[in-house]
Amino acid sequence: MKDKNFNTLIKKLQFCEHCGFCRSVCPFLEASNMEESVGPRGRKTLFLSLFENKVQPTPRLAQKFYMCGVCRACAVKCPQGIDISEVSVHARHKIIKASALNPFMKKVADSLVKEVKNGDIFGAAATKAKWAENINMSNNSDTVFFASCMDTSMAYGELLVDVLEKFGWAENTLMSLSGLAQKPGINMLFDKFLARKSDFYRKSLVNTVKLLNKLNVRFSYLGSEEPCCGAALHTYGLLDEFAEHAKNVYKIFKEKGVRRLIVHNPICGGVFKAEYPSYVDGWDIEVKHVIEVVAEAIENNGINLRLPEPAKVVFHDPCYLARFMDVVNEPRVVLKAIENLELIEPPNSKRETKCCGGGGVELIYRDVATRAAVNRVSELNAGNPDIISSCCPVCALMIKKGIKNLKLNVKYIDIVDLVTDSLSMT
Ligand code: SF4
Ligand code: SF4
Repeated sequence: MKDKNFNTLIKKLQFCEHCGFCRSVCPFLEASNMEESVGPRGRKTLFLSLFENKVQPTPRLAQKFYMCGVCRACAVKCPQGIDISEVSVHARHKIIKASALNPFMKKVADSLVKEVKNGDIFGAAATKAKWAENINMSNNSDTVFFASCMDTSMAYGELLVDVLEKFGWAENTLMSLSGLAQKPGINMLFDKFLARKSDFYRKSLVNTVKLLNKLNVRFSYLGSEEPCCGAALHTYGLLDEFAEHAKNVYKIFKEKGVRRLIVHNPICGGVFKAEYPSYVDGWDIEVKHVIEVVAEAIENNGINLRLPEPAKVVFHDPCYLARFMDVVNEPRVVLKAIENLELIEPPNSKRETKCCGGGGVELIYRDVATRAAVNRVSELNAGNPDIISSCCPVCALMIKKGIKNLKLNVKYIDIVDLVTDSLSMT
């Protein structure tokens, strides 16, 4: 799809000064022993060669572009404002069009196309609204809490990544089996089996509802009719499918009278804010992260917040929150308002935050992604915190992985859960 974004990108790339500033911040270049071809500057060179037909799309070339977390760290450093995540996404698109993915990556692509359309990236549409079964939520507000299938069904993603890590030699078979696990009946059984893992992610949704209620925010929830935002289609390079999906999602929102979205998952928020306006004519839906709503309430009215026990907390800015949604001050406003909480800043924070190792790399290049997670968690742990906090299901998955690998005695707690724990003490 050679759209206006692609043409702007090609023009921008002509201004690359080869300065290499982008190389200094790429988490996957660092996790790949500085192999230039999987770093941002290398990707840029290969991208131009690909579009000038000097190199051919092959599974080997695909690796160079899929080993990118689409994190935009390079864009913040680049004096010319070049965003290599866009390079990766457009190169992936060309590689998919040329049918040059390896069999496993092709299976992932096919699964994404099918399941995003069905409403849940992990194929768990039948159970995605289960977390809200016993919660009363109105359905007549034009402000909608968008719960995200990544939060509701992330336990499936965690299980898939864990199993692939152990039995990667059978990845094609495992990917086919994951399709089987997504059949509605089997999905119900899986949901019971994964209850503990699911509760970890779904707890933040329940707490988001509690917080919004406490702040007297009127909102609706679309339940099982909530569509998937389609972020994974975009990042995977399935741009034609994403363009069509985004238009359908907008149609659903319009039919339901949605004017405002409140998200917990910044990946959905980021794609709505940063990508939908380029793909959907007339996109006019306001998007906020729940932490922006809480920060506004603290600044306007003040809320009494106190952690039950004193704790040193480090905040990891998710790439999608800081660089796609442009939300960096609000988490700090909220955390600084909590008594008994000492906030520490890690190296690489705010817009210069470092990727947790996710961004889709965790599914395909598990070793590299785990090394990136370990690198980031080492930074987060530098000030000896008791708690690492963030607000993204993929960051949660990768930070937990980094903590486990480093055998650290530090907990991961979502910022919404920290605020809710602090509220119950007042
Ligand atoms: S978007 Fe992130 S992972 Fe991709 S090239 Fe830029 S810094 Fe590296
Ligand atoms: S930072 Fe920007 S200008 Fe410098 S090498 Fe990277 S893409 Fe080129």
